[in-house]
Amino acid sequence: MSNAIGIDVGGTKVLGGVVTAAGELLSSIKVDTPSEGGSAVLDAIADVATQLLTQDNSSCIGITIPGYVSSDRKTVIGTPNIDGFNGLEISAQLQKRIGKDVLIENDANAALWAEYKFGAGAGHDNIVALTLGTGIGGGVINAGQLLRGAFGVAGELGHVRLVQDGLICGCGMKGCLEQYASGTALLRTARSLCSENPEAAKSILKHGDGTAGGVLGEHVTIAAREGDALAIECFNTLGRFLGAGIASICAVLDPSHVIIGGGVVDAAEILLKPTRDSLVAHTPFSGKHPVPELVAAILGNNAGLIGVADLARN
Ligand SMILES: [Zn+2]
Repeated sequence: MSNAIGIDVGGTKVLGGVVTAAGELLSSIKVDTPSEGGSAVLDAIADVATQLLTQDNSSCIGITIPGYVSSDRKTVIGTPNIDGFNGLEISAQLQKRIGKDVLIENDANAALWAEYKFGAGAGHDNIVALTLGTGIGGGVINAGQLLRGAFGVAGELGHVRLVQDGLICGCGMKGCLEQYASGTALLRTARSLCSENPEAAKSILKHGDGTAGGVLGEHVTIAAREGDALAIECFNTLGRFLGAGIASICAVLDPSHVIIGGGVVDAAEILLKPTRDSLVAHTPFSGKHPVPELVAAILGNNAGLIGVADLARN
């Protein structure tokens, strides 16, 4: 089978690469996403594609989009992260620029596909993935296929409601899972605890600029790994919400594995253990209902482009 080209388009970076049929990344190019959006971003994607085509004249090109994609994988329904992309027929626009057919896919779906084919989910046909970042990206593999739904937008698991009348979400609703279990939620908890009690939080604060506002996710992870109680409590809080959310998701989808990705999963068992405990505690018909394995994603930031290249090839 031939190589394929994958291009991961984010709000800040466009990352492209040539990917083998075994999921290996042979080469990659990264450029900034033009802030003016629209056709400037299309030009940047076309430029990355053209450079990669000089390395490998593959006929298959896939592109990830951080937003809703139409079920025919040609048009962006909506994205909050790139100006001028809502309703854009990306596939046709890029065909004009590079003369090749292009498949587009939601970024979280593409990353899940890579983990399913080549990563933490390999060998398992019923998988849920949650990528914890600014929000929560979700995806579902059901019986070996990406779950797309009637309109192409299934698997938006970050917007499952966890708390009635809870925190306002970027989607316009209240109480969504991503408001309680994303990387942003971890930071909100950590900064709040650091602000309330800087003395107790000194093991977290020493890794940054010393202010609560300067705390980053990696500072909380490092402090937790060092055994700091406050940092561990931040992960326990996140894990309690995340596990409860996963229990509801599993009641619908019954996966064998739930793959957790994003920067916070660098904390490994410090995050996964409280999540697993909460999942078991919130699973209906406790003790009788099978509980899936929780595993960390392994393909990192390249998962999206590796996954979308494979989808384009098929
Ligand atoms: Zn939401």
